[in-house]
Amino acid sequence: MPTQSVAVEQSRSVLTAIPGPASRALAERRRTVVSAAVGSSVPVWAARAGGAIVEDVDGNRLIDLGAGIAVTSVGASHPAVVAAVQEQVAAFTHTCFMVTPYESYVAVAEALSRVTPGEHEKHSVLVNSGAEAVENAVKIARRATGRPAVLVLDHAYHGRTNLTMAMTAKAMPYKTGFGPFAGEIYRVPASYPLRDPAGMTGEQAARRLIEVAERQVGTDQIAALVAEPILGEGGFLVPAPGFWTTLREWTTAHGIVLVADEVQSGFARTGAMFAIEHEGVVPDLVTTAKGIGGGMPLAAVTGRADLMDVVHGGGLGGTFGGNPVACAAALATIDVYEREDLPAAARAIEAQVTARLREVATRVPAIAEVRGRGAMLAIELVRPGTLEPDKAAAAAVAAACLAQGVLVLTCGSWGNVIRLLPPLVIEPALLDDALDVLSAALEGLAG
Ligand SMILES: *Cc1c(COP(=O)(O)O)cnc(C)c1O
Repeated sequence: MPTQSVAVEQSRSVLTAIPGPASRALAERRRTVVSAAVGSSVPVWAARAGGAIVEDVDGNRLIDLGAGIAVTSVGASHPAVVAAVQEQVAAFTHTCFMVTPYESYVAVAEALSRVTPGEHEKHSVLVNSGAEAVENAVKIARRATGRPAVLVLDHAYHGRTNLTMAMTAKAMPYKTGFGPFAGEIYRVPASYPLRDPAGMTGEQAARRLIEVAERQVGTDQIAALVAEPILGEGGFLVPAPGFWTTLREWTTAHGIVLVADEVQSGFARTGAMFAIEHEGVVPDLVTTAKGIGGGMPLAAVTGRADLMDVVHGGGLGGTFGGNPVACAAALATIDVYEREDLPAAARAIEAQVTARLREVATRVPAIAEVRGRGAMLAIELVRPGTLEPDKAAAAAVAAACLAQGVLVLTCGSWGNVIRLLPPLVIEPALLDDALDVLSAALEGLAG
């Protein structure tokens, strides 16, 4: 019988300075062998994690408002995921689906066909990371259209491989010094309501994008438009209503493959199973990763069967793609999203957090905007009275939260956005405790 996961008490407890002595010792050891190029947002080292709590090596219990970047949405070490993984590890860990296939890969593809937007026939390919999913979506779109060009949005993040670096907007730290980059990637303006001209509608923002694409690239050269329904690393930018419907009409009219990169926004995170559902459009391809497997590495491209099957046999795949342990975890995880109705949990988190933060915002002029959907929420910080991004303020708020045992991440093209990505199973009282800490840190900006 599989053992249950270690239960971690769902409460905040700060016993040492943060980081504590054991974390500091590990940081020293790391410096001797781990590349300095690998960053860690918080200096606290994990010992175990459960639900919405990360317990560090000094015995501190931190409230996790990052979920390992929107990965442990079902909670860290969800018992159903732990059991599924343990059972699969004991049966077999790997055969390579391209050598000796196994059922769970097919079952994950069936689940993806069911939960992704649209009633059309869909096929999937499973890979290992979000970046790999995006790369494969581009391969499929180019093969299916016979065209080279790929449109990507300003403020986009699509990964760190050579192709996805080119697709990512922000130079530092993702691109600086790593060129030359892959060709035929064209950047077009996103919808950023806070910083767009006042009153600009979603349709107008889409027309601005289309004008650039038609003038600089030409519709007959464009294989795909790849875009995040809510821009993630770029600052949790929710487009103005009508942006996506206009883009859907335009891409359909010109045979351009519309790819929704749902790597961060997918799987119940925004209060719907996928963020694109809020926009009322059905994309041709969807890329998924982060939240798919309860913490196990897995990613997918899912979409129109006619596009997916244009690629020649053997054209897609990889040694570890759709690893059976990751597939077992994903099946258990997707079942939790559906059975525990985690989209509804995300909507409840949105209500609880935004009520609180909008009230705090009335007293803190550095808060330019509280935005987002479901449990993908952000606070953009600026110099009061301007729209000048204030990265130092975001860093100060994150540090103040961490010192009190609350883990929050930052994001945004200027690093001036606090982002909240709590596990969707976080208990309301625990979330309230975290919001007390966060509110006090934000009020500190006004003082
Ligand atoms: C994180 C992310 C990626 C890259 O995923 P990795 O698993 O880190 O390669 C791609 N797209 C979006 C929208 C992401 O948030």
